[in-house]
Amino acid sequence: MRKPALHWQIFFAIFLAVSLATILRSLAPDSRVTSAVVATSGFIGEIFLNALRMVIVPLIISSVITGIADVGGIQGFGRLGLKTIVFYILSSLIAILVGLSAVNLIEPGLENGEPNPAILAAFQAEQTRQFEQPDARIASAKEQDMRSVVDIFLRMFPVNVIQAATDNGQMLGLIVFSILFGIAMVQLPAATVASLHGAVRGVFEVMILITRGIMRFAPLGVFGLLLPVLAAAGFELVQKLALYFITVLLALLFHALVVLPAILALAGKVNPVLHFRAMASAILTAFSTASSSATLPVTLRCIRDNAGVSERTSGFVLPLGATVNMDGTALYECVAVIFVAQVMGIELSSGHQFIIVLLALLTSIGVAGIPSASLVAILIILQNTGIPGATAAVGVLLAVDRLLDMTRTAVNVLSDSCAAVVIAKSEGESGVLKQC
Ligand code: ASP
Repeated sequence: MRKPALHWQIFFAIFLAVSLATILRSLAPDSRVTSAVVATSGFIGEIFLNALRMVIVPLIISSVITGIADVGGIQGFGRLGLKTIVFYILSSLIAILVGLSAVNLIEPGLENGEPNPAILAAFQAEQTRQFEQPDARIASAKEQDMRSVVDIFLRMFPVNVIQAATDNGQMLGLIVFSILFGIAMVQLPAATVASLHGAVRGVFEVMILITRGIMRFAPLGVFGLLLPVLAAAGFELVQKLALYFITVLLALLFHALVVLPAILALAGKVNPVLHFRAMASAILTAFSTASSSATLPVTLRCIRDNAGVSERTSGFVLPLGATVNMDGTALYECVAVIFVAQVMGIELSSGHQFIIVLLALLTSIGVAGIPSASLVAILIILQNTGIPGATAAVGVLLAVDRLLDMTRTAVNVLSDSCAAVVIAKSEGESGVLKQC
């Protein structure tokens, strides 16, 4: 019998994790059996996640350099770079506007036009809790101020590029370094760098092969990552924030199922269904890991093996996208900030909302592709727009963040892959989404 396709296997793993978590939560939430099962599956999930992370640094370096070398020198790279940046800015901006419309329309922070008292009480309880028991994650996020937005430019030129890459998933410096390396390489006589070029390409091929191997264990890894999340507490708070959850999910789904497919069909002239089929494993991996950086190896493999995009395009577009293009995150930041303002009873003028849109765009570029990274950005925006109760609000959002993080990460990765396809088509690539 033929094995089902990888994405069906991952779907099945997600279904199993949801079912087992429901059983454990209802039958024996605090038993030793439950904690043993959760700990074991968490361990398996961590091995899978680490294995994916392990290939990221060599993969980014080799794919960006190979991409630039293949694109035909600085001119070709300039054209590709411009298209990529325009796509990323526009798609993030549209995502933020989708979020803005949803949160203003649904008003999840209000009840009968007034700040929702139950949510306000949750914020106040969190404030007291933080006062008595400071939370390290929030304290470190609090230390970051407006400089963090400007820091994006500083981070592009790290003193130690390898250290920067391993430091909390900050890949921007590594990408800039690889771009400079690639540009310098194509300027040297071909004979001088021929063996270097071959070696870098070889590293890329090896990394893709290793990724394929790791993905064989994806169903197991996904199961391991999801079970602890689903079995964990926090559902009480989720109930209070139900409308907020629905607002974020609806906006994310609209962007993923309406806006991005429209861009694929109109700008790329490709069938969005084929695209979803080609990228299914990457989208599901993003959903399970909540990390676009950790998903990058899978995204690169799917776009090349399933969607038929060349290395020349994907090698540059995807690593950059995993680092700076976060549609889901940008959308989420905008919804979260305006939601907090609603709960705190702050009327935001259109000027205020415009600043929030700009800050969401800027900070989403700087957010690392790791779980819950956007909460730091939300804190920065709240503090810079003078909305009170920032830390308590972020504490509450953090407690219920995982499911939303999984969904927005899937949207982040989907948007990167759409960029790769649209840009590949605009570069005249003919094999895109043909073999699905
Ligand atoms: N987890 C997201 C990502 O990796 C970032 C975030 O929104 O927190 O893309």
